[in-house]
Amino acid sequence: MKLTAITLDLDDTLWPIAPVMERADLALQAWLQLNCPEVVQALPIAAMRRLRDRVFAEHPELGHDFTALRMICLREALAPHGYGEREAEQAFEAFYAARNRVELYPEVGDALERLARRAPLVSLSNGNACLDRVGLAHLFRAQITARSFGAAKPDPAIFHAACALAGSKPDETLHVGDHPEQDVLGALGAGLHAVWIDREGLGWTLGGVPPRSFTCLAQFADFVESL
Ligand SMILES: [Mg+2]
Repeated sequence: MKLTAITLDLDDTLWPIAPVMERADLALQAWLQLNCPEVVQALPIAAMRRLRDRVFAEHPELGHDFTALRMICLREALAPHGYGEREAEQAFEAFYAARNRVELYPEVGDALERLARRAPLVSLSNGNACLDRVGLAHLFRAQITARSFGAAKPDPAIFHAACALAGSKPDETLHVGDHPEQDVLGALGAGLHAVWIDREGLGWTLGGVPPRSFTCLAQFADFVESL
């Protein structure tokens, strides 16, 4: 294949997301405890998570925009105690700063540098991580998120927008990610090549021809260098 650009998923492809969200929830609680303690009394962490689940379920139209959904949660949590938009934004910032304090999988830093030497990289995420804050922006030509674009993977339109940012045609672009539907089937449906990062060695269960898969990003970088 002719490889002109690589698009990369972020959460669970470059870093594990579960511990990040755990710490972000705790950072939010700590901020609230310090600045709006009544809110923590009324909504301890389990209740805050139930509020989040309800708000996310009530707003399917914002399914691509976790920032907007989080802000709705915070406004609902804060308003009964007399707090307004200023506190909601500050609370979000406490959450968001922690959401961007990620720990890369061990091989990722080196693998990304190798990949960036081979082709322009564009991040393509349904989450709301910010590569500038994460500290990886210098390795990427561009970033696109479901929030910035207005639709989420597997919508083909967001893959095509990423190709446009990369300056590549879909059939000369390789997308890599951990999610079988959002990343692999999404990329293939949009006419890109797809690589599945299967860290757990789960194997492909969605039928059809199994995608090319690797258990880590270093293996993927070896493959890209062999093209
Ligand atoms: Mg992912």
